[in-house]
Amino acid sequence: MVDYLIVGAGLYGAVIAQKAKEAGKSVLVIEKRDHIAGNVYTEDVEGIHVHKYGAHIFHTNNKDVWDYVQKFATFNRFTNSPVANYKGELYSLPFNMYTFNKMWGVVTPEEAAAKIEEQRKEITGEPKNLEEQAISLVGRDIYEKLIKGYTEKQWGRDCKDLPAFIIKRLPVRLTFDNNYFNALYQGIPMGGYTKMVANMLEGVEVKLGVDYFADKEHWDSQASRVIFTGPVDAYFNYSLGNLEYRSVRFENELLDIPSFQGNAAVNYTDRETPWTRIIEHKWFEFGKDDDGNDLPKTVISREYSSEWKPGDEPYYPVNDEKNSALYAKYKELADKEDKVIFGGRLGEYKYYDMDQVIAAALGKAKEII
Ligand code: FAD
Ligand code: UDP
Repeated sequence: MVDYLIVGAGLYGAVIAQKAKEAGKSVLVIEKRDHIAGNVYTEDVEGIHVHKYGAHIFHTNNKDVWDYVQKFATFNRFTNSPVANYKGELYSLPFNMYTFNKMWGVVTPEEAAAKIEEQRKEITGEPKNLEEQAISLVGRDIYEKLIKGYTEKQWGRDCKDLPAFIIKRLPVRLTFDNNYFNALYQGIPMGGYTKMVANMLEGVEVKLGVDYFADKEHWDSQASRVIFTGPVDAYFNYSLGNLEYRSVRFENELLDIPSFQGNAAVNYTDRETPWTRIIEHKWFEFGKDDDGNDLPKTVISREYSSEWKPGDEPYYPVNDEKNSALYAKYKELADKEDKVIFGGRLGEYKYYDMDQVIAAALGKAKEII
């Protein structure tokens, strides 16, 4: 019998396990995959820390979360600056003076602002969809070359049928600043995320390759409390129906060359290229191995966006009206399970970034431990 059984060795589970252990409680973690770290898992290939479930860049404005993760990893100074490739023309992201100079030849912020102003005139009134919002933020030229194709590939829908707010995530700057995030703190844990999570789980018993549902009664009988970080609808046997997810597929390639694209992320913003972007993992750590030596080879991942179907790996929760309403019903059921706490991206069906998942788990740990 343990105080806490934690289902899932992702970030949420690891934080709760670490806090419970620190408080002197007994903890057991079970994980159905054959590795820890959930979706932030990094796998070593020829000395490169490959982000197996998609590129993960840690960024936050939350000082408590930043201080917390420092205990388990040293973060490097990586700053995300993706490049957009539109039919061979390269542009800086997010939209800033470098982008405007390349697009229009403008040199000063005043000239850039005037160009955007001239192009946004076609939108009168409040933007009703993503297309109108994008044109009203950066004008039609940038919309056509850097937004339309990428967004339609990523979401599998026309920009006129997508909500305006999605494009507001991206900064628009009249300065020469290629930093993709407006965050106070940013970086990549040196040595990979798996190492960071292993440090969080130090001294905690973890059983890999164990599916909680294969013997739920047995596991429940082993603990006073259960922290469940898997899909909430799966917990209730999909009794109210399936929650939907957006899925992504990765094609990984090891290449015997030192550099494929010279940057961690290149977005392919035309409609015809089937992938949305290519990640070159070594650049998250400046092309060096753990000892600071240059890596001779490289690993790239082409990322394809796809509609999710039952059985696929769930990636992004779709927080639209239909799914939010269904989740609200599952939440009512979850609240009645006194012994079980539902947490994390799948347990709470929330599009959490890593820092938000850590903040949520730290808050929950304070409440229950
Ligand atoms: P998970 O990591 O999914 O962990 C849940 C674990 O539970 C999994 O390991 C799963 O195998 C296990 N599990 C499920 N069911 C069972 C069961 N029945 N029995 C046993 N184990 C079970 N965030 C950022 O901050 N920056 C980024 O750049 C970023 N990029 C992202 C890119 C992609 C493609 C995706 C999908 C997400 C990205 N995120 C990013 C978000 C980040 O991945 C999540 O916030 C975080 O990983 C969520 O942690 P979690 O513990 O809630 O979930
Ligand atoms: N986007 C775009 N072109 C790009 C990058 C992003 O049009 O080169 C749009 C796209 O619609 C995307 C949105 O901006 O959904 C938000 O981008 P972000 O990188 O935040 O999306 P994420 O992959 O994190 O969901």
